[in-house]
Amino acid sequence: MHYGSRQVNSLPPYLFSVFQQKKKKLQEQGIDVIDLGIGAPDLPTPPFIIDRLVEEAGKPANHKYSPYSGCLEYKQAVAHFYKKHYSVTLDPETEVHALIGSKEGIAHFLSAILDPGDGVLVPDPGYPVYQSAIHLAYGKVLPLPLHEKKGYVPQFEKVKAADWEQAKLMLLNYPSNPTGGTVERNTFAEAVSLAKKHNLCVAHDAAYDLVTFKDYKAPSVLQVAGAKEVAVEFGSLSKSFNMTGWRIGYVVGNRDLIRALSIVKSNMDTSQFLAIQKAGAAALYSDFSSIKANNEIYQERMKEMIPALKQMGIEAAEPRGTFFIWAKIPHGETSRTFSEKVLEKAGVIVTPGTAFGSRGEGYIRISLSVPTERLREAVQRLKKIE
Ligand SMILES: *Cc1c(COP(=O)(O)O)cnc(C)c1O
Repeated sequence: MHYGSRQVNSLPPYLFSVFQQKKKKLQEQGIDVIDLGIGAPDLPTPPFIIDRLVEEAGKPANHKYSPYSGCLEYKQAVAHFYKKHYSVTLDPETEVHALIGSKEGIAHFLSAILDPGDGVLVPDPGYPVYQSAIHLAYGKVLPLPLHEKKGYVPQFEKVKAADWEQAKLMLLNYPSNPTGGTVERNTFAEAVSLAKKHNLCVAHDAAYDLVTFKDYKAPSVLQVAGAKEVAVEFGSLSKSFNMTGWRIGYVVGNRDLIRALSIVKSNMDTSQFLAIQKAGAAALYSDFSSIKANNEIYQERMKEMIPALKQMGIEAAEPRGTFFIWAKIPHGETSRTFSEKVLEKAGVIVTPGTAFGSRGEGYIRISLSVPTERLREAVQRLKKIE
């Protein structure tokens, strides 16, 4: 690693890769490992989206560079979705920008708005990519604590005065990876009003916006009056339409923030393949029955997993969103030792909570995005531990 920059060489090791190495070793010994650490849907992309891709892939007009901010059809589809689903009006030309997945968008957004040393309030526990991307953009991670007792809503009152001062941006993510925590619109209203008070902006990562259960409908930060003055929202087709490998997402909201991101992106990439954008538009214009069917499958899987955990003395609540179960492990164990034990004794990978920040200690994350038979097998094996 002599050639990496200081920022690259000082990135903390990715805890996921440690478990992946162990998985490989066990598999080499002929042991069947069930990986419940996976953060991507196992189910296939709905056929109507694939059909549109195939159709568009054959058209020479789609073989050219896309406009930097995405093609109009895709941006209009995003605006249509916001209107229909959230009653939020967006100008497709200035308030919507296509992304090559929201991960790309978030990383480039950070380098577009941060000066060296600028602080970013980051949910802890939260998606680990935020911390790495902030580090690579020379920013400083400031903790925004989430707590089980408060239902994992941000504990704004725990943020130090100096951190409010240093922060240029607040990152939020609901439904939340890894906790499955969800919020109502008032949490976003509070975030927007604090952002205005302390002169910072808000970026909401809505990767699981449509992966929700029963009657729960996840709000958009842009539903808050005046949110567009300070906020952007990142969206993704990855989780809701089982399209992780397609790399298609969007950012919506404040046009100045989007313009800053667009300047970085236009020097880095030339947007996604037009045929993929058009297939993405078909997804966003659809009736979402494919999402409803997926969500029912996740709920069935949840019903198998939660009682099995209970039998092991692990209490976990049914989340209202995401395909993750965030579970508290028995006393006297650390996330790391417990996860290692589950892998060694049952050949099942679960993710230690500390992979998502120090406040993840005492928890594990279990992904429900594995085929139901495999999940049943994992449940049987977990029940036999101890
Ligand atoms: C999966 C995930 C993403 C990345 O989504 P892409 O659009 O595929 O890049 C972003 N945020 C969270 C919280 C995720 O879990």
